[in-house]
Amino acid sequence: MPSESTREGHAPEQCKSCHGTGDVPSEHGPARCPDCGGAGYLPSPHVLVEWRARDIERAHAGSTGSTGGDVRWLLAELRRSRDALTEISALAQELDENPISARIRFAANRGLRLYEVVSEEKP
Ligand SMILES: [Zn+2]
Repeated sequence: MPSESTREGHAPEQCKSCHGTGDVPSEHGPARCPDCGGAGYLPSPHVLVEWRARDIERAHAGSTGSTGGDVRWLLAELRRSRDALTEISALAQELDENPISARIRFAANRGLRLYEVVSEEKP
């Protein structure tokens, strides 16, 4: 029966926008790749969500209509939920290892995507 485990430190995925160089051509010469921040590889899904949230926040920073307010509300809710999941995950690490504490950690990780989940076949 397959079970799940988490794996930290998996090989980072090369950025497809800059092919791992960290630079993209612009009319003023090479510029830092906007997709990977110049690193050449993509960060974890957890970090990508925060980058995307900041991009959305910046894009709507000056919006005064209902859309700007809606976006700010949604991002505040996203961050509040992720903070709560981070605390739940940290508290579950303090518990003795048992099926319930493992399920709490996996559920929190589904929301945070801090660790890659891999399936393992039991021998
Ligand atoms: Zn890139």
